[in-house]
Amino acid sequence: MDSWVGPLDTLIQDFSSIIDKLWKSVKYDVDGVVLEVTDPQLKKYMDLDLSLNKPYHSWQIAYKIDPEKAEVKVLSIIPQTSRNGRVTPVALLEPTKLSGVTISRATAHHYGMVKKKGIGNGAIIELIRSGMVIPKIERVLKEADPEIPKNCPSCNANLVWDADNLICPNVGDCPAQIINTVEHFFITLRNINGLGSATIEKLFENGVRDVCRIYKLRIDDFKNYGFGDKQSQNLVAELERSRTEPIEDWRFLAAFGVHQLGRANSEQLLKRVKLDDVFKVKVDDLVSRKIFATKTA
Ligand SMILES: [Zn+2]
Repeated sequence: MDSWVGPLDTLIQDFSSIIDKLWKSVKYDVDGVVLEVTDPQLKKYMDLDLSLNKPYHSWQIAYKIDPEKAEVKVLSIIPQTSRNGRVTPVALLEPTKLSGVTISRATAHHYGMVKKKGIGNGAIIELIRSGMVIPKIERVLKEADPEIPKNCPSCNANLVWDADNLICPNVGDCPAQIINTVEHFFITLRNINGLGSATIEKLFENGVRDVCRIYKLRIDDFKNYGFGDKQSQNLVAELERSRTEPIEDWRFLAAFGVHQLGRANSEQLLKRVKLDDVFKVKVDDLVSRKIFATKTA
């Protein structure tokens, strides 16, 4: 690994250029450098207080490099249909280090933004550090001609605009919408292993398209669909466990993916209304009992 050795004065004077050179010489992800004293006598002297059970040498400290933002080139934009039919623009980026993590994808809010701000192949965007695995594009520094898809990438239906969103209108028959709806159910429930996107896609290919049918599947059904013996047994056992093991009621309600009824709103609603009564509740009730504002109610 590369290192720089020199006198303290030089290090202080040229600190950022020395660090920058080292940083760029490393081919893999790093989030900082280690600064250490090299003089053996001084090192020995500095470690005299090691009796205090310090976990590190006193002659060594970590310096974290933590860029807040970066300018990144867009390689291409890929449309992805979500469970509610909205087509999300996903930008493939020139891999860029940000906060010690290499980012190679980002999402734009919607295709309206892609069109208005010119997020096309070769555009330069500003990536801002965020806790998310896939960050959102907030600013475009250099525009490029955007490509707006005409057809759903999953079912090929003609896409329609709804305000700023491109929508696949093929509700109930678009593979991406169905698969993502089922996946959302199990992800939100969070009490089942093995029912990830690959399994759900395989079930879809075999005509199993809803949660209700998935819970009715037997070991033989899974085997017929091409799952192995062990996996079929595991899946049925997991489904059985998921059906009987208690979970939070709001998690169950949110799993259905009703618009505006995400985890937070489900929890808020079920604090005041019993799950069994959810379908009986009236708009006026929700408003007068101050559970939701009129529009959400
Ligand atoms: Zn579609």
